[in-house]
Amino acid sequence: MSDVMQSVVALAKRRGFVYQGSEIYGGLANTWDYGPLGVELLRNIQNLWWQTFVHRRSDMLGLDTNILMSPKVWEASGHVQSFTDALIDCRECQNRTRVDHLIEDYFESQGKEIKVEGLSLEDLEKIVTENKIPCIKCNKVNWTKPRKFNLLFETSVGIVTGEKNTVYLRGEIAQGMFVNFKNVLDSFGGRRLPFGLAQSGKAFRNEITLGNFIFRTLQFNLSEFEYFFDPDEQDWSKLYEYWQEEMWQWTTEILGIKEEHLRWRAHSDEERSHYSKRTEDIEYLFPFGWKEMYGLAYRTDYDLRNHMEKSGVDLRYTDPVTNKKFIPHVIEPTFGMDRTLLVTLIESYVQEENRVVLRLPIALAPYKIAVFPLVKNKEQLVTKAREIYQTLQQQWTVAWDERGNVGKRYYAQDEIGTPFCITVDYDTLEQGTVTVRHRDTMQQDRVEVAQLEAYFADKIK
Ligand SMILES: [Zn+2]
Repeated sequence: MSDVMQSVVALAKRRGFVYQGSEIYGGLANTWDYGPLGVELLRNIQNLWWQTFVHRRSDMLGLDTNILMSPKVWEASGHVQSFTDALIDCRECQNRTRVDHLIEDYFESQGKEIKVEGLSLEDLEKIVTENKIPCIKCNKVNWTKPRKFNLLFETSVGIVTGEKNTVYLRGEIAQGMFVNFKNVLDSFGGRRLPFGLAQSGKAFRNEITLGNFIFRTLQFNLSEFEYFFDPDEQDWSKLYEYWQEEMWQWTTEILGIKEEHLRWRAHSDEERSHYSKRTEDIEYLFPFGWKEMYGLAYRTDYDLRNHMEKSGVDLRYTDPVTNKKFIPHVIEPTFGMDRTLLVTLIESYVQEENRVVLRLPIALAPYKIAVFPLVKNKEQLVTKAREIYQTLQQQWTVAWDERGNVGKRYYAQDEIGTPFCITVDYDTLEQGTVTVRHRDTMQQDRVEVAQLEAYFADKIK
């Protein structure tokens, strides 16, 4: 693991952002739990996303659909048939791995970049054989033939197991929006295209992963929307480019990710999912290479058409003005929330001479403000500081720290990205002012206690 990655993983655990799942039992591979600061960061990201793409737009409606859906949904969507990974086993050490990752990582270690997603089993096998790619565990070259495994997590409803009780944990959150399309049209009659249905939620993939911390996990958080439009009225490629710009703006301007760490990468014809006519990913330059962060897919009318055929329910849209009846097409931007969290940590982690600072955007910081009494054994200072703490807590997330000295407390708050620290000292008692110290500049302002709320209202938006 790279130095940055190691530092971020260590900080995430030490300060309560991310813990290994089921750790006291030795852990469950590729599951992670968010700690007290991680859950704040994740929710801040999700809320900011919701504000940006749902609340601040008039063409978007939110949903929160079920993780468990009728298995017929996944048959209609094509997931039961083709939501698979090609896996290969090492005959020497029984290491099971994804063939595409095996090949890509091998070439990356040779300084070359190739993408093999979408290649046939035969082609993948050929690449492994021709290049004599060794097992990463035992370094020998003795592979089985690659085989396809379905990625849907299976479980069963009720106490009797059997094929007819089998259900799947959702492999993507999009289907919840397609199967509710008619419900929304019925409840929100007269709505004209284009408009989107958005949701944030958990999805599951039963896959072999390489263990890059929270980059690829069995359970993960997605936020996405399906943007429905009439392909006769709107040029899909223009709409596609519009959403590319919106996604780029979210990533660079709202999250503050540096443009030089980001790129668009178009999927090749072989690599593109079975439902998509055009797919591009925003990739981030992780310490372990360029990897997908977000995706933008033009799914055509594939999903609604399939659900209409398989369910027998008419899912066509009727334009309230022209009465034209048709199946809308859809463009789908997908945002990995755990990846956003990881990128945010990597991107904001700065090691300075005497401190570590998480330069998180203020909107994302788990705590916006920390309040300290200068010393903890002077009752008047503590009481005054408590008062300020409780007042500010009505509006913002506020940390309290009375351990050690002020320098140590600054260090601890810088490390978790708290933008402002307030110290209550003897001048507070006499003159009614406190010191406000800024995380990034370490600049200190003297602010009247009575003005604190106005002061922060201006800075924390
Ligand atoms: Zn091996």
